[in-house]
Amino acid sequence: MKLSEFIHPASLDEACAALRDLGPRGFALAGGTALNFMQSHTPKVAVDITRLGLSYVNPGPDYFTVGATTSLADLQRYRAKGWAMHEICRRISTHQIRNVSTIGGNICRVFPWADMPVVLLAMNARMIIHDGQDLELGADEFFSKQPVGRFAAGGLLTAVKVPVLKDHQGFGSVKATRTDAAFSLVTIAAVLEFEAGHIKGARVSAGSAIPFPKRLQAVEAALLGREPTTVAFKEAAAKAVKEAKWTGKEGMSAAYTAELVEVSVLDALERAATFARGRDGR
Ligand SMILES: Cc1cc2nc3c(=O)[nH]c(=O)nc-3n(C[C@H](O)[C@H](O)[C@H](O)COP(=O)(O)OP(=O)(O)OC[C@H]3O[C@@H](n4cnc5c(N)ncnc54)[C@H](O)[C@@H]3O)c2cc1C
Repeated sequence: MKLSEFIHPASLDEACAALRDLGPRGFALAGGTALNFMQSHTPKVAVDITRLGLSYVNPGPDYFTVGATTSLADLQRYRAKGWAMHEICRRISTHQIRNVSTIGGNICRVFPWADMPVVLLAMNARMIIHDGQDLELGADEFFSKQPVGRFAAGGLLTAVKVPVLKDHQGFGSVKATRTDAAFSLVTIAAVLEFEAGHIKGARVSAGSAIPFPKRLQAVEAALLGREPTTVAFKEAAAKAVKEAKWTGKEGMSAAYTAELVEVSVLDALERAATFARGRDGR
């Protein structure tokens, strides 16, 4: 997609007003890497949102508040207790792409290969949208449909609240690729919550081998109340096969992909359990 003009607003409200005035001719420009994938013969006016003070990670007791234009490279470098986003960030494309791609750009227009939405769904993150006033949406609602439509009237995502993983929680993600920086064949993320040696809560999500990311609810249900053993994880992972119509990519068949999904779910669950054990000695 081509851009014909650039506008550099000085504030968030100025940016929203410009996008509102431009309507379909306007384009909120963060890292700009998605232009590569967007087919449009009509040039758009770019509203640069990278100078609005929205690049930061603010730690809090329950959430890390991540500004929408924070780059994936900054998220990869960030470290704190209860933070695990660096795991997936380091697997996204190349360092050059991660330097400019932002968390907001990755989740406001979800491409089938996008990894961030999968992780944020499992983590139950919360998105803050500014459209005159702030609106906060949970991940299930935000990713219930292609988010780009939410911004058609000039609103902008300003921040993502990423939950702080507590001592009784574990996180695991798997991104299966054919070569190192390739698009994902399948991406899986899992957050497990433990109580008295049993699984009390589970959020498991998938993307890439389906057009749009989703939670794997049969897998989640199969985990509840179980002890975190390999047997329990294997039984739950087997449920993933029938949870979607998994599509083959990059020369892989659909049957291969379904098996890859099952193995990747198992790996993500094992990693989540290891993550939790590493922190509280379980
Ligand atoms: C070669 C290549 C390989 C890649 N591989 C992967 C991969 O394996 N996995 C992966 O997850 N990603 C990958 N990406 C990145 C991904 O495809 C997107 O290009 C990227 O995430 C977009 O981020 P951006 O900051 O550049 O957004 P932009 O390109 O600036 O914007 C993307 C869209 O989001 C909108 N937008 C941006 N910010 C906001 C906001 N704050 N509020 C409202 N709307 C907003 C824009 O208007 C636009 O519609 C790859 C990119 C490239 C070029």
